[in-house]
Parts: sequence; structure tokens; C-alpha cells
Amino acid sequence: MCGIVGYVGNLNAAPVLIDSLKKLEYRGYDSAGIAVLGKEVEIKVIKTQGRLSALESLVLDQKPQGNIGIGHTRWATHGEPNTENAHPHYNASRTIALVHNGIIENHGDLRQELTSRGYTFLSHTDTEVAVHLLDYYYKSEKDPKKAISMTLSRVKGSYAFGILFADCPNTVFAARKDSPLAVGLGQGENFIASDAPAILKHTHDVIYIDNDEIAEIQKDSVKVYHLNLKETAKEAVHIGWDPEAAEKNGFAHFMLKEIHEQPAAIRNTVFPRITDGNISLDELALSEDAIKNLRKIHIVACGSAYHAGVVGKYVIEKLARIPVEVDLASEFRYREPILEKDSFCIAISQSGETADTLAALREAKRQGLFTVAIVNVIGSTIAREADSVIHTHAGPEISVATTKAYSAQLATLYLVALRLALVRATVTKEDFAKLVKELKSLPEKIEMLLAEQESIKQFANKCKEKKDIFFIGRGIDYAAALEGSLKLKEISYIHSEAYAAGELKHGTISLIEKGTLVVSLATQPTLYEKTVSNTAEVICRGADILALTFGDNPALLQNAAFSVILPETDPIFSASLSVIPLQLFAYHISLAKGLDVDKPRNLAKSVTVE
Ligand code: GLU
Repeated sequence: MCGIVGYVGNLNAAPVLIDSLKKLEYRGYDSAGIAVLGKEVEIKVIKTQGRLSALESLVLDQKPQGNIGIGHTRWATHGEPNTENAHPHYNASRTIALVHNGIIENHGDLRQELTSRGYTFLSHTDTEVAVHLLDYYYKSEKDPKKAISMTLSRVKGSYAFGILFADCPNTVFAARKDSPLAVGLGQGENFIASDAPAILKHTHDVIYIDNDEIAEIQKDSVKVYHLNLKETAKEAVHIGWDPEAAEKNGFAHFMLKEIHEQPAAIRNTVFPRITDGNISLDELALSEDAIKNLRKIHIVACGSAYHAGVVGKYVIEKLARIPVEVDLASEFRYREPILEKDSFCIAISQSGETADTLAALREAKRQGLFTVAIVNVIGSTIAREADSVIHTHAGPEISVATTKAYSAQLATLYLVALRLALVRATVTKEDFAKLVKELKSLPEKIEMLLAEQESIKQFANKCKEKKDIFFIGRGIDYAAALEGSLKLKEISYIHSEAYAAGELKHGTISLIEKGTLVVSLATQPTLYEKTVSNTAEVICRGADILALTFGDNPALLQNAAFSVILPETDPIFSASLSVIPLQLFAYHISLAKGLDVDKPRNLAKSVTVE
């Protein structure tokens, strides 16, 4: 999820690797390391927790010599962000070293298998299984490419790998599936990089490695093979981007890039936790008896994470039949909450450092509740202090307005709800299987919605002069409306409010006048009629409607100025889909108004004050 670089040429590799890694610092990382292959039999590995400057001083001290190497900035997904878990990882004889971006989903099984074969693990990462598998297959095959292809056939999940074999002192190997990786082409030198900015200083000509391909890179040649080791012809691409555009991978803003990373964020969060149709959520360290006896769940969070919590309330209550209370974390401890035993508390935070959420978590703990954190940053304070942690695997989020971290939080709450429901037998096995399948299909459906960007943009451009925009919905749609409205406020500075649709006529409807835009969300078929009526109430007072619904709701669609029809899904998961057009809508209004999309005024990414 963070950065990979590699070098083979005539220069001393270490400074080139450090310099390239520095170009990826903007992405955020928690540790870094390099491996250099020189004249010695062993590969020299230097790595450390913390900043690249710390790695750089170690490198200056130890002066590794060699013209070939790999480097990594890590953004922990499995195992604390410490030196042992930093990459590169290596085999016992230090003759194979590897860096990895992504997640190896079946690392648990592979670790067991390798341990029983006598392998010793030095880290708690998912990655380390790959290097021992390579060692295992290399011993029998004596051929690095074969060993790589056999290793890849055993590994499930997403990866970009950079690999060194001491037996191949002129070659960097690379392979990928669902994590980006490119080979940079120089004169008498070649590079690998997960992201173009790392190597743009040296070359603008790259070969993109595709899924299930293995690259063999020497200073004067690059060969690419399919997993079956048949060589494939690849074309080089010339990148014209300036370094800043390259950081965003060609997207105009980090927010837009992260909006498009949502399918991957959900896949990375959900897929490793589903095996053979079952949800393995060991992180939710509650016994089945404790789950059966649960009386209440408290959710505490701020901002978008709070909105994810509100969706979570509807979903958990519906599926697992446990009452859920959602609190704004900043309010929770000051209302002297009454926390009964046989309940637990979920604290949600992208950064894991949100001060209010941390304070709420501490209050829950003080009152003796079991606490579960849903956080994106491993090793963060909330992750450390909670009794158990379920990590979202959204990857580093740079845009201040959250998108992919929010989507990953929602996906995690679905996993929790389904797990609780199965243990409590509040869903049938058949329905459970259907819902799990549906959950797994959300990334594809999000991709379908992302493809509708152009029409959303055109409508957004027409709305940029609006003074007020209201969002209405019922149930889960109300929760989604809260998030849609917040996204709009955050980055477009347009006044906006979200209302439970039935609440409008109790006051707010007086604000509706000719041309006011009302975003009407209706994704719960049992509530269609009610929301359609509430929408009709604002239409006859002059409002224009942006409708978000499924295709079977013509009554809403026919009266809308603009609509997005969501791909079919179980209504329980609709919030994951309806948020996508709302994010794009907010993004394009902000853009049309010429605002700073990624850094909206007055806001900070991680709010560490109360
Ligand atoms: N999953 C690996 C780890 O936690 C790689 C993380 C990354 O992509 O930086 O070590």
C-alpha cells in the first residue's frame, strides 16, 4: 500500500534507492528499508521504524556497497509499525530478500505450513511468508523465476513484489497482482517503482507490469513473463506528467484518486476476512457466548466515521437484533453515559488519533466495557488502547475529505453485523451466504458508479451557484444523507443539511423555495412510498430534485432533474453505493468553484484536539 523502488545499474544503489523513496514520502509511511546486493554472499538489509531520515543515517553509517537493490516504505497492514516488521524481509541465509506492497490474505495458513517445515519467522507481517516460500521453492527448483511463479501460485491477495536473489547478482525481479508496479527504463540502468514519481528524475519511459506477470530486470535488459514463464512482449509508455501530477497517479486531486481507490479499499478490507463463505473476524475477540448475551452496542466516532456508525446502527440492529446507540464522540463522555454490562463499545477513526474518539473510548473502558477499535492506521493510539482492533485496509488517505477510509469503515461494520448475526442465529445460513456474496460484489458495483462520473460532473457544474442544498432520506438513506451533505459542505462551502425525510415538515420545509436543490435518497424499497411523498412535498414548493435510487422506483425518478440509478444490491448495503455519486457530486462542485479540493479551508486531516 505504500512504496516500492528498485535499482540495477552502474551507480551505488543505496543513495539512489533512498532518493527514490523520498519522492514517495508524501504518501505517508511508518517504516522504511533497503536491501543491497554487492560482492558478499549475503544481501545487506538495512531497515528501521520511523522516518526516511533515520534510514538515511543508518545507510550513511553502514555504507552498503553494490549496484543493485530494492527499497520500501511500509504502511503497516499486518503487524506493528516497528523495525522487525519493516521491509525488506529475508530468508535465514539472507540470500533472498523481498519488499511487498499489498496484503497476503492467506498468510495465516502459509505461516503454519512453513513453520511446520522448519521456517522461523522474524516478523508479524503477512509479507514474510512470501520470502520463506521463495526459499522453499528455490531450494527444490534452483531457478528464481520458477520459484517466484510457484510462490505466486500459493499466495492469495494483492501484491507488488521487488525481489533479490544473491545467486543472481545482476537481476532485480518484480511481480504484481492488484498493486501497482512499473519498470523504469534508463540508459545502462533500470528501475522498479510502485509509483512513477519515485523514478521520474531518472526516466519518463516505463513498462507497466500487469497482473500475474513477472519481470526480470538487468541493467541492459527487461524481460517480462506470464506466470507460466512464457515471455510476453511489452510496450514502453512515455509519461509526460510533471512530478506533482505523477503523485496523484494522473488524477487531478488526491480526493478523486481516493474515490477511485474505494473498490480496492473494500476488497482489501473484506476479502481477507472471508474464507469459504465464512467471515473470520478473530479480531473481534468476543466469545460466542458473549455475542449471544450482548444487550447493547455503543458506537462512538466523529465526522464521517460517525456517519459510518449511524449506518452501522441500522445494519447491526436489522441483522443481529442488538440495540445500538451511536454517539458523537465529543458528546459521549459529557453526557455521563449509562453503560450496562453485556454491552461493548466500537470506536471508529481513520487515523486512530482522533482526540474525542480516544476520550470516548477511555470513558467506555473506565466503565468496564469491552472496546473494539475500527481504525485505518496500525499502531495508532486508539488501536493500542482498545481491547481489540479491526483494521480497515484503505491504505494511506491524503485528501482531507475522507472517501475510501469511510467506505472501508462501512465495509467493516457490515462484517461485524454479519458475524454477530450468524452467531446469534438472527439470519438464516442461506441469507447469510447471500449477504456475504453481495458484500463481495460491492467493489464491482462501485466501479459501475464511478463510470458515471461525466454525467454527475455535468449536473454538478449546473449546481455550483446554489446557496443551499438539502439531503433527505429515511433509515439507512438518512445516514447516507448525513455523509453526502457533510462531503458537500466540506469541500464546496455550500450550506447544506441532511434531514430524515419525514422530519422536513416539522420545520425545515420553510427553507425550501424555488430552485432549492434537494437530494432525495430512496434505496429502501419498504420506504419508497414515504420518501416519494416527502419528495413531492418539496417539489410542489419549488425544489429541484437529484434522485438516488434503484431502477424500480419510477415514481421518484420521473420527477427528478437528475438521477443516478444504483446497481441492484441488498438494501442493507445501499449506503456503500449511494455515497459514490454523492462524493463525485461534491468533488465536481468544488472543482467548478475553483476551490482547494484536497485541503479545504479550516479543516485538518487528523483532529487531535478536543
Ligand atoms: N502487508 C504488508 C505489511 O504490513 C505490506 C504493507 C505495505 O504495503 O506497505 O507489512
